[in-house]
Amino acid sequence: CRRGLGRPVACSVRANTTERRSEYQWRKPAGFDTGLLVYNSLSKRKEPLILAREGTATWYSCGPTVYDHAHLGHACSYVRFDILQRILKKIFGINIIHAMVITDIDDKIIKRASELNISPQVLTQLYEKEFMSDMTKLKVLPPTVYMRVTENIPQIIAFVQCIINNQHAYATPEGNVYFDVKSFGNRYGKLMNVQNLSGEPGETDKRDPRDFALWKAAKPHEPYWEAPWGKGRPGWHIECSTIASSVFGNHLDIHSGGVDLAFPHHENEIAQCEAHHQCEQGEILSSFRTQAQGMHKPVCFFVLVPG
Ligand SMILES: [Zn+2]
Repeated sequence: CRRGLGRPVACSVRANTTERRSEYQWRKPAGFDTGLLVYNSLSKRKEPLILAREGTATWYSCGPTVYDHAHLGHACSYVRFDILQRILKKIFGINIIHAMVITDIDDKIIKRASELNISPQVLTQLYEKEFMSDMTKLKVLPPTVYMRVTENIPQIIAFVQCIINNQHAYATPEGNVYFDVKSFGNRYGKLMNVQNLSGEPGETDKRDPRDFALWKAAKPHEPYWEAPWGKGRPGWHIECSTIASSVFGNHLDIHSGGVDLAFPHHENEIAQCEAHHQCEQGEILSSFRTQAQGMHKPVCFFVLVPG
């Protein structure tokens, strides 16, 4: 998710991407029309903001990966989302139920914790606390609920199993589980026009280079959870689809995240949700995808949020 603190460069898949213009036909969801127009990154134009329930918006945010200090890119994104939420609340009287995921297990966390010779848990607790403190200093209102990945592993395992059962994912003898992009046909890639994919180095057990990990087998000395496919941990994207679905069911009004994470992260979130819920234009993660610019751009040049 908003692979905070630097997630950006290490995309699990590299690709040349170009935005599609007006190619995807947005289908207006049923519900209460607020009369507001919001930029929809799926259709690439402004669309009416339609809520499932009058007066209440469900909102999911990709949150930080807590392994380092928050930088200006993060601050920018969350301040922007906060402004949008305040406008909806204070001017239009819309109650917002906002869930944000905290990524507290992933490759970068494991690597950083190992470099510092501390446990991933100690590292993530430190930076989670710092992130929340930074947001308070920036006067960004907290979400209704923060959800940590490590506290939702059974839900993630069940979500992955459901995608396997729906024949859109497969487990390998190595203990990895991949999303089967080919099985999804041209439904994959609706957010971004994706070409020339090459897999993550070292992944040799995929059926197709475009396939992406839902579950990663644990390497020696890495933290792991037991799953039907072996010991491992969630892949990069699955946490958001699972947690958004756990909190909001199969309909979400607004999804927000960094525009530079549109591919592969948000693209894969959409595919996972549609494969899980067996719907098109996922009734989840698709009503609106408000993306802030430049969330992850400062990769080498970090301006830290003042402490
Ligand atoms: Zn996300």
